[in-house]
Amino acid sequence: MPHTGCDAMHDEQDRTAAVKEHEQASRALSPARRQGKTGTQVSEVSGKAIARMVEAFMRLPGIGKKSAERLAFAVLGMTRDEAAGIAQAILDLKNNTRYCSLCYNITEDEICGICRDVKRDSTRICVVEEPSNILILEKSGTFRGRYHALLGAISPLDGIGPEDLKIDGLLERLRAGGITEVIIATNPTLKGETTALYLSKLIKPLGINVSRIAYGLPVGGDIEYADENTVQRALEGRREM
Ligand code: ZN
Repeated sequence: MPHTGCDAMHDEQDRTAAVKEHEQASRALSPARRQGKTGTQVSEVSGKAIARMVEAFMRLPGIGKKSAERLAFAVLGMTRDEAAGIAQAILDLKNNTRYCSLCYNITEDEICGICRDVKRDSTRICVVEEPSNILILEKSGTFRGRYHALLGAISPLDGIGPEDLKIDGLLERLRAGGITEVIIATNPTLKGETTALYLSKLIKPLGINVSRIAYGLPVGGDIEYADENTVQRALEGRREM
């Protein structure tokens, strides 16, 4: 028998009554639970498995609660195979990747593709904080040398000193010879600057040129919206036309 509009309305009313009942029950809970900063918990509404998925997504950078909930429901709407594919991709990423033993880029082999590529300029090394920075620089397509990821930056406040970074490996590569320039592309932050200065003092005595990436205004940006520090650095880093 087809579902009539009237039945549907009845169902809706039943559901509304059930929700109201649930809300009343929730209000009767202990004050501590009700005062939770995040309000109604997803686990209360949709179950613990969804809540665990939301929590897992929230561990990712740039994913807040709302986005995590949207992603969790998107996974729920997938076929079993699609969901398994995502789970397997995450496991494969963790099981099959490692750091390149030369430059600390991410690779599936002992030595990464960039270090193995004989067509690249082996006289220049660009030093970055994280392997993810290599990807960004590669996308720009302007640098054809090699890289070295430090896996962090010097930060005394966080208890991270030079000995915690992959600096020894870099010096080893430089001492092996053949490198004429090191480009320091650490972040333009206090940590990044400290690291750049430290490295430059170590590398210059080896007779190798050390350069620092330029600071400036974002391409397509408006000078009006740039902060004073950026404008100051952009002026300092000006070049002849
Ligand atoms: Zn490598």
